[in-house]
Amino acid sequence: MADPDILHSLQDHSSSNPGSFDEIGGLTIHFWGVRGSIPTPGADTVRYGGNTACVEILVAGRRLIFDGGTGLRVLGKHLLQTAADVNAHIFFTHTHWDRIQGFPFFLPAFQPDNTFSVYGATALNGASIKQQLSEQMLQPNFFTPLQQMQAALEFKHISAGSVIQLDTVLIETIGLNQQTNALGYRVTWNDLSVVYATDTDHSQGTADANLQYLAADADVLIIDGTYIDHQYHDSFCQDAAAWQPSVDLAASANVKKLIMFHHNPCHSDDRLDQLEVEIRDHFPTARLAREGMIVHLGSGKENPA
Ligand SMILES: [Zn+2]
Repeated sequence: MADPDILHSLQDHSSSNPGSFDEIGGLTIHFWGVRGSIPTPGADTVRYGGNTACVEILVAGRRLIFDGGTGLRVLGKHLLQTAADVNAHIFFTHTHWDRIQGFPFFLPAFQPDNTFSVYGATALNGASIKQQLSEQMLQPNFFTPLQQMQAALEFKHISAGSVIQLDTVLIETIGLNQQTNALGYRVTWNDLSVVYATDTDHSQGTADANLQYLAADADVLIIDGTYIDHQYHDSFCQDAAAWQPSVDLAASANVKKLIMFHHNPCHSDDRLDQLEVEIRDHFPTARLAREGMIVHLGSGKENPA
């Protein structure tokens, strides 16, 4: 069944227009990377995509970016081609590789006219978000240190419970996973709300209670569906029913649209197709995120239909 909120599902990012959100209004979600743990290029991952986590939300003239996996590199390339003087807010959930590996390759950060506010929590080892991002760019891991990024970069320490107000856009945070200090985010603008909650740990009661609060009545919940990090080695690529707790949570939180994200590196396009059918049997509005997918939500204040 066609989903009226899905504007495009593009393999070719360059054909989309990032300036259009100002004209469209409402809130637009663009998926630039949807894979967990490690990039998975190849013939059997073309349709869902192989880049790791990066989701862009365009709302009220603001550009919000969640996580900087390898999808961030593709977004950066797109911005260079289509936008001048990029101003964005980048929110990190945590700093596993699949959330930060695109950051050193995010070319707009090397250009002096651009401005980025970078938000993240202190790691379990005490490192600030700036330190965590900087360390992966040091020799012998990488050839260009963070100091060579010429854009105006402002690093902002946040923690579970932080609330960020960007004019009319509200961003709330919760703790999702005590083992990784991962943060979940809820973006609210007018009557629209989107929750981005990945690296959830359903085995911890408090994390789920927090998530229940964060996701309550959300228009869109983006959440781990088919995979959680530690399963890669635990299961040796065997399936695990990771989606059931997310579906249960979405139902009890009265979420309108459920988008499963952070796909298992072992899963081919065909396997993900099967999983989507299986999940939709339990939650009819659920979809699996695809790289290049764009979801648009119109505000009820603009579009009563
Ligand atoms: Zn992780």
